[in-house]
Amino acid sequence: MSHDCLFCKIARHEIPAEIVHEDDEFLAFHDINPAAPVHLLLIPKHHIASLADIAPADHGWLGRMLQLVPGLAADNGCHPMPEGGFRLVANSGTEGGQEIHHLHFHILGGSRPWSNRAAPAA
Ligand code: 5GP
Ligand code: ZN
Repeated sequence: MSHDCLFCKIARHEIPAEIVHEDDEFLAFHDINPAAPVHLLLIPKHHIASLADIAPADHGWLGRMLQLVPGLAADNGCHPMPEGGFRLVANSGTEGGQEIHHLHFHILGGSRPWSNRAAPAA
């Protein structure tokens, strides 16, 4: 199914992005307005609006997507565990802070302080 959302267009290379990883299923690229020294976005190439739409049939690719995160963090400037590390954020729904309704993980890291824009403090 073809979608016209911004991240579908980035996944189809119709809109440029600073891509750090691409495979058959996923794309990772730098956030255009970083909230931390390292701020990547990881998306599935197919359109799914948010975690609220995950069904049992999605468990396989969602697990593969999660497993990509530590390597992407380490390869793109997050400091080594456990003193370093990263924050994984999936804003879900408008009140959850989601502005682009195509599932994405924010991967944030690097020396603090960070902005709390992507993951407001509770
Ligand atoms: P959300 O608020 O939906 O969780 O996060 C959307 C993120 O997408 C924001 O952090 C925003 O800076 C980023 N963003 C919005 N438009 C673009 C774009 O055209 N390119 C890139 N690389 N990031 C974008
Ligand atoms: Zn989309």
